[in-house]
Amino acid sequence: MAANPMQTLPISVPADLAAKCHFDEGVLYVASDSVLDPKIIDFEMRLQRMGALRRKEQTSLADINARKTPKAAAESRIAAGQELRTALAFLDQGVKMKASDIHFMFRGPVMEVKFRVDGFLDQYAEMPSEEGMRIISALYVSSDVKNAGSFSFNAPIAARVSKGLPDNLYAVRFASMKSDAGGVVVLRLLYNAVASRSYDNKIDLVTLGFSEEQARLLWDMAAAPNGLIVIDGPTGSGKSTTLKYALQWVHEHYPQFNILTVEDPPEYPIVGAQQIPVLVQDSDVEDLSARSRAYGNVINTTLRLDPDILMVGEIRDGVSAISALRAAITGHRLWTTVHANDAWEAVNRIIDLLREAGMVDPMPVLANTQNLTGLIAQRLVPLLCPNCKRPLSEHPDAIEQQTLEELMAAVPNLDPHRVFVRGPGCKHCVPMADTAEQMRADSRRGILGRTVVAEIVRPDQTLLDIARSKGIPDARRFWLKHRNGKVIADNAIEKIVGGLVDPQVARDFVGPLITAAQIVAGSDSELSGGV
Ligand SMILES: [Zn+2]
Repeated sequence: MAANPMQTLPISVPADLAAKCHFDEGVLYVASDSVLDPKIIDFEMRLQRMGALRRKEQTSLADINARKTPKAAAESRIAAGQELRTALAFLDQGVKMKASDIHFMFRGPVMEVKFRVDGFLDQYAEMPSEEGMRIISALYVSSDVKNAGSFSFNAPIAARVSKGLPDNLYAVRFASMKSDAGGVVVLRLLYNAVASRSYDNKIDLVTLGFSEEQARLLWDMAAAPNGLIVIDGPTGSGKSTTLKYALQWVHEHYPQFNILTVEDPPEYPIVGAQQIPVLVQDSDVEDLSARSRAYGNVINTTLRLDPDILMVGEIRDGVSAISALRAAITGHRLWTTVHANDAWEAVNRIIDLLREAGMVDPMPVLANTQNLTGLIAQRLVPLLCPNCKRPLSEHPDAIEQQTLEELMAAVPNLDPHRVFVRGPGCKHCVPMADTAEQMRADSRRGILGRTVVAEIVRPDQTLLDIARSKGIPDARRFWLKHRNGKVIADNAIEKIVGGLVDPQVARDFVGPLITAAQIVAGSDSELSGGV
């Protein structure tokens, strides 16, 4: 890690906080029951303003006391065993390849290690399952789970590793699940910066892949005085990254705002925000109702800390949905994510969750521009390697016939010289392949980095009135037809036409290439045909 000159300045913990926290080499260690202490949060804000805070770590009082004596601290850095070193070597390799996830798949006597890079999952290594289990156990024991015993697939495990990691990693999320043939462990690598091979240091919503127009819509939402802003998409669609850069933009433009996040656990450090973890990591086993209660409690507690903007990592149950809605209707801006397929479907998802929590009719409350400020759906699509991409005009067979037909129907004046398809691979996109054969075998060949494709709805009162009186599908149709709404495929097609994305890859990742205009034309002819 590049040395931050501020970190070398001696910074001492205020005397009245010394019993609750410890600050060492950019890491603020806080006793678990003092995480919400306003004085600690105050100290943490000061460290952040000084640029001295690398991360915050929750720990026990005993650990804090141990860290205060240099000898104990030295002893706590015990040499890692061989198995842990192997596990960390996989992480090192993952970082080198800019992988987003590492999968360990146990199938009978064999364990396969696979890396996901730019959305593609590829085999990297293979070893006997017995040895694999020892490596996974060592990593699990080193996780933040208190008293982590030996690892087994008997119950699903959700843990987090934050010690001893390569410098570029903030943390690693560890998840395991039993399978027919054995089991699978997935490590999600949480990078300090965005885990993509195409991004430089300066990252904003446009470099993530949002169009200028979409970024303006997002900034407009961010400037609204209150209400819910909901980002949706499947796991791995980059929702947390968008949240991070949206909130950092808010901090840059409205430095006076108090931004708090409630996450389980925090995924990325967010400049300018106080990140409050939900404390449900003590148990190995996922206890969903305990987790949901803890989440709801932390949201409610956080509201007492006077936030202007609250980010709730994910709304996944009725308790957190109710708490989030309460925050939004009491004058807070609330950013959150849900699992849904398109922007409008997020409203249905929230309504379902609110009903689950006992709210009989959530629609009148939601269908108000004061309370529902923005809906964003997004996916990540692999980008073409600019060094070896090839024009579609010379390689029409590189994409399937159906994809070509969809593309020509969506873009009648398509110029096949400006649309590009994946190349054969080169030293930029497949740096580890030595021969042409190895390049061909690598499913990432011709791909370099990923980009966001999105659809964004800024609801106005007319749209919300339609949603309330006629339902979400009618509101969506009205939005497409009369508000010039653009769907995810529109955004993907723009990038295909711009030569940034391979048409086939786009279709594989976002589905049929059908524009909003085509949807409107289709539903109009359906309606007139029905008369
Ligand atoms: Zn290339």
